[in-house]
Amino acid sequence: MHIVMVTAEAVPFAKTGGLADVCGSLPIQLATRGHQCSVFLPGYRRALQSGLPIEDTHVSFVVDMAGRQVSCRILKSTLHNGAVSIYFVDQPHYFDRNGLYGDEHGDYRDNSERFSFFCRSVAEAVDRLRLNPDIVHCHDWQSGLIPAYLRTQFGNKQWYQHAASVMTIHNLAYQGRFWSHDMPLTGLDWQYFNWQQMEFFGDLNLLKTGITFADFITTVSPTYAREIQQPEHGCGLDGVLRSKQQRLIGIVNGVDYSVWDPRHDNHIAQNYGVENWRSGKAACKLDLQNIMRLPTSEAVPVIGLVGRFAEQKGWDLLKPFLEESIERLNAQWVILGNGEQRFASALSELAHRYPFKISVRFEFSDSLAHKIEAGADMFLMPSRYEPCGLNQLYSLRYGTVPLVHRTGGLADTVTDCNQQTIESGLATGFVFGEYSYDSLKNCVESALNVYSQNPSLWGTLVERGMQQDWSWANSAAHYETVYSRAREQAAIEGRL
Ligand code: ADP
Repeated sequence: MHIVMVTAEAVPFAKTGGLADVCGSLPIQLATRGHQCSVFLPGYRRALQSGLPIEDTHVSFVVDMAGRQVSCRILKSTLHNGAVSIYFVDQPHYFDRNGLYGDEHGDYRDNSERFSFFCRSVAEAVDRLRLNPDIVHCHDWQSGLIPAYLRTQFGNKQWYQHAASVMTIHNLAYQGRFWSHDMPLTGLDWQYFNWQQMEFFGDLNLLKTGITFADFITTVSPTYAREIQQPEHGCGLDGVLRSKQQRLIGIVNGVDYSVWDPRHDNHIAQNYGVENWRSGKAACKLDLQNIMRLPTSEAVPVIGLVGRFAEQKGWDLLKPFLEESIERLNAQWVILGNGEQRFASALSELAHRYPFKISVRFEFSDSLAHKIEAGADMFLMPSRYEPCGLNQLYSLRYGTVPLVHRTGGLADTVTDCNQQTIESGLATGFVFGEYSYDSLKNCVESALNVYSQNPSLWGTLVERGMQQDWSWANSAAHYETVYSRAREQAAIEGRL
């Protein structure tokens, strides 16, 4: 099949979170399975300056943005020795900026215009480049208009006749919700601005648009696929998603082991595998303690956290827990994150008070994220909700026992250590069920207890996690099935 992916992030060009990991890896995996893959990204400043060779396709055109003529140029790079084509929508006014979605003052105020332009340009470019895809696979709200263009035949592009659309929800909380006056920027007729299609409580909702027009919908874990159909996690779209449940499934993200594997990770102090993890992790821990200016000690357990400072990630639960326990517990805390200031300030204050127990870095550092995965003994993810989560999967491979809240992809990928799972040989981590201070406390204390009192069980958890295979091969096979089902669906409806 020929698959065109439309996304706002892909490694190594632009990343703020897991979306980038997925869109950098899945196309390569699909290409190695014999498919043709082309990826469309906005031509952000950092993407065009990634250092990889970029050429001009000589395809350029003008898009009518509610009466304003805006020019677009399509640039091209490749990944994996040319196996995957990457196309950039180049328009400096929209994309030659420092941030992807905003700056220190918040989201860019013209985001609906920027990403409407992106979608309009992709629809045009796929036509002009004669890509003729079988599937257009859209990711998150930034590409939500594309399924609508296909189904409404917007602009009568030839490629619409051959393609079915798939919409993947990486995080339902981010919907691309804008005031209704932005509707003309989409180019679509006002007739589609109704509660069953693009409208959401009087606003324009680009993720809802993608969901309602796509032939098939996926999200990034089976548990999250169920959760988002319920009011608690449905972010107002649970009803829409329930009405689509016959064409909605969850597929757990894979890990790119060419990047995330301690056997050949070049960010870490010493490479290791399951056969020599004790010495390897000890060296990486020492290095991490040095980098983070914590007292060096092999015996003291190190608990790592990496993630965006956003409410979703459970910082509100962690803060009182750390305040209460940091002095009492024999553990060191290593935290890397960036985002909302209120969480950063609380952590910074703790790091100031307990410099021997906790060290925090407020930045985005890929290299440090790798060092934490390798050097920590445990990795904590107390997320309130987590569509898939990647760090727990990286942690399993790095022999860093995950401590997680039972939600979304965390529930699907980590098996709690209890009498039953120890006996059945399935335990890989520590899972707490209720999103509460007490459950988090019990979870961390149980893990610390096993670490210090039962080294042989700890070793079993580490080694079992390291031996698991969460590579993309499995997930890519599921996506192939989804692509076929999307095409069947489009055929049933007489569009293919
Ligand atoms: P989300 O997409 O919700 O942010 P995921 O767990 O799916 O969460 O993916 C997060 C990805 O971003 C992981 O690869 C993680 O290592 C990385 N990451 C998050 N914050 C940082 C940071 N401050 N520095 C480096 N990497 C980070």
